Amino acid sequence: MVLPLVGIAQPAYYVKNPLYVFELDFEQNLKIVRMCVTHSKRVLFPSTSEVYGLCPDKELSEDESLLVLGPVSKMRWIYSCSKQMMDRVLAAYGQERGLRFTCFRPFNWTGPRLDEPADAERGTARVITQFLFNLVHGRPLHLVGGGRQRRSFTSIHDGIDALLAIVRNERNNLDGEILNIGNPSNQASVKELAHLVRDAAAAYPKYAPLAAAAVITDIPEDDYYGKGYADVQHRVPSIAKAERLLDWRPKRSLEDIVRDTVHYYLGDGGAWA
Ligand code: UDP
Repeated sequence: MVLPLVGIAQPAYYVKNPLYVFELDFEQNLKIVRMCVTHSKRVLFPSTSEVYGLCPDKELSEDESLLVLGPVSKMRWIYSCSKQMMDRVLAAYGQERGLRFTCFRPFNWTGPRLDEPADAERGTARVITQFLFNLVHGRPLHLVGGGRQRRSFTSIHDGIDALLAIVRNERNNLDGEILNIGNPSNQASVKELAHLVRDAAAAYPKYAPLAAAAVITDIPEDDYYGKGYADVQHRVPSIAKAERLLDWRPKRSLEDIVRDTVHYYLGDGGAWA
């Protein structure tokens, strides 16, 4: 079994280094996929919730939702398009050459150990880590485009549980399947999230003054990401298929996720404490 995990999944790169994103996420991974075909290896491939792009469905469904991308002039879609192409190539190898594959689509997996301080220093960390890093350094928490966009946040622990169930494939029912791995119950706007992070940090006496002083402020999308970006406003997975095929369901609430993440960085002996 092969699980290729190399890839760029940070929006700043989609706009600034689009060719690198295409070369690594598509071209280099294609070599691995072709080796899996040659050597008859099962492959578990990380797709992404980004492939749904601007699809208006209330819940995004693996086998029904349209994959809707913006114009070429918005460079950010090169990531979504590269990942979508790989999903299609995998499906084609499955159909024509019998490749055993399963794609999984993470929906804003978040939690401890996902981002390095260097990511946050560059402004490319996932949103919770980025907010926390800014707070700890006395910088404003930026709400891109006003922070009304909503996401469904998934605990990294729930994500890994799902991934291990895919690896085990106990019921041998996953070949050729694409699975959303997310938590539709954990929806919040980015603005609500900023307040949750600030409140969670305030519970640590050492950081309470910084939390009290933290400024939460709007920033235009172009100023934060550059011209080629366009944020997705709404992204909720249907997880009916993952629940059915994996006998899995996510357990951790958004409050658990924020608490876990803040504790990992700021708790006693924490990564930034
Ligand atoms: N975001 C924000 N401020 C930040 C970092 C991110 O408002 O400092 C927004 C970002 O524009 C997106 C959401 O938070 O709408 C989630 O961003 P993240 O990079 O964690 O994941 P994405 O959903 O973009 O894959």
